[in-house]
Amino acid sequence: MQQPNITQILISEDEIQQIVQRMGAEITTHYSSLEKELIVIGLLRGSFIFMADLIREIQAPLVVDFMTVSSYGDGTVSSGDVKIVMDVDSSLEGRDVLLVEDIVDTGRTFAKVVRMINNRKPRSLKTCTFLNKPSARISDVQVDFCGKDIPDEFVVGYGLDYSQRYRELPYVGILQL
Ligand code: 5GP
Repeated sequence: MQQPNITQILISEDEIQQIVQRMGAEITTHYSSLEKELIVIGLLRGSFIFMADLIREIQAPLVVDFMTVSSYGDGTVSSGDVKIVMDVDSSLEGRDVLLVEDIVDTGRTFAKVVRMINNRKPRSLKTCTFLNKPSARISDVQVDFCGKDIPDEFVVGYGLDYSQRYRELPYVGILQL
């Protein structure tokens, strides 16, 4: 059932499944000859549902870790003030790392986290996002695996929130307040 304030379903449950399967296959191909397990780092909280689906589509040995960064507070406009709230447990030096984000908007969050992880000297670092808003980009950041490019609208569902609500929606919808 569509929620009030959701003006349009942008990505249906079926399409989400197809996207995640395609990304899992791409990532599997890329990591076909790993030396050690891949470390998959999800940025909380928005990526938790995508992460859960994605890792089950990756046919490679992997371990999971999480990091929490905050940039939006309770609003819908990126503040640019990115704070690391909770760090990963794993040592990343010499390891293959895949960083997983729910959505790349201005790119500030991703750029900051990529810099931080690169400082820890991983063997390789690749980036992955479920959604991408290319027209909102301010910081230059490379996205290696991308689910879908979307227009510059505020979206919720499939892990993405507005003031911690709507994460449980099985689809991605445009929120109009
Ligand atoms: P950036 O730093 O790229 O501007 O913002 C990235 C973060 O902002 C994402 O991880 C996500 O938490 C939040 N964000 C950006 N755009 C949206 C959106 O359309 N909907 C929701 N729910 N969060 C967004």
